[in-house]
Amino acid sequence: MTRKKLKLKSSAKKPLVIVSAIILIIVIVVFFYFNRVGELKSLGYSEEAAKSIIFKFKYSYIMDIGENETLNAAFISDDYIDDNLDKYAKIEYDNQEHLISNINKLLDKGYSVNEISLIIDKGDDESVTEFAKRDRVKNIDEFLSVDFAKLANYDRYVAYQELNNDDAETTVLYVNMDFDKEDYVDPLVIDDFDDYVLVNKHRQLSGKYVPDDLVTIDEEYVKADGEIEIERNVAKAFYDMADAASKEGLELMVSSGYRSYEDQEEITNTYLELYGQNYVDNYVAKPGFSEHQTAMSLDIASKSVNTFLESNEYVWMMDNAYKYGFILRYPKSKEDITGYKCEAWHYRYVGKKIAKYIKENNITYDEYYVMFLDD
Ligand SMILES: [Zn+2]
Repeated sequence: MTRKKLKLKSSAKKPLVIVSAIILIIVIVVFFYFNRVGELKSLGYSEEAAKSIIFKFKYSYIMDIGENETLNAAFISDDYIDDNLDKYAKIEYDNQEHLISNINKLLDKGYSVNEISLIIDKGDDESVTEFAKRDRVKNIDEFLSVDFAKLANYDRYVAYQELNNDDAETTVLYVNMDFDKEDYVDPLVIDDFDDYVLVNKHRQLSGKYVPDDLVTIDEEYVKADGEIEIERNVAKAFYDMADAASKEGLELMVSSGYRSYEDQEEITNTYLELYGQNYVDNYVAKPGFSEHQTAMSLDIASKSVNTFLESNEYVWMMDNAYKYGFILRYPKSKEDITGYKCEAWHYRYVGKKIAKYIKENNITYDEYYVMFLDD
């Protein structure tokens, strides 16, 4: 009996050992799994990416590489391709919906990782997706290496350079300023108020573009009939500037400030009747194309001299306006770029930092905007 009992006991022990061993293995695996997920997360990977990395057996590979946003995106993407892994790691990340699928397509077309980084950096999801469908383009980096290049303008760069033979940087600058388009044809229409907005013959403010912080300029500074409104910060900067000028015996006045879309319609019609189309084309901004609608521009006058260009106030403004954040918006030497004949009286407020840069580098606001503010 005793023998039988013992035999039974030992045969019952076997499954227990196996079960214990299995449980132990599970515990160890689960422990390592969570431990590794934790390590990957502390490197900067998302939980979803960390799990995918472990299931694809890339834990050691990723631990060697460290943080990499493109890899993070790749591991959570349905478009992940194992063969492209090394290349994903070398491509600059950008937050685009079809990033990995587009990278795969561009790699298929034979683009290098550097070229793909440029394509992604200079495009948005839509333009990169379109570009990835095209046949391979050679020397893409010639234009896209320019800081402010835009992938969406690529074909225009090629066409413009063929016509004008400018270097890549000039070509990108001019095309981004729409020099390859007719004035007033197919302009960009802008609705939302923005202190830094660029308005020119290719960029039109809509009738809905209305500044929200207008103040009335103090009567003592106004050289015009009726009240003049302007954006609050511009008024402040103007008062500072006028006070500084007055210490040198000069009297800066304002002859025009904010003009609504409707005001500009009236002005255009008046000048058209008085002086004809040619004058209007050269000197009068059409509705929506006037910088005065931004409430960031002032026409400045001298209290004593009627032609501002001939006044001492003008000479003073040339040397000092930038210190108060103002720039001469349409200088004589830049008529080809602004598209406007020189207006000695018209100043745009852009803030001190930008005004200083523009003055020191002898450029226009059109160029500054395209190089630094346009996205
Ligand atoms: Zn003006």
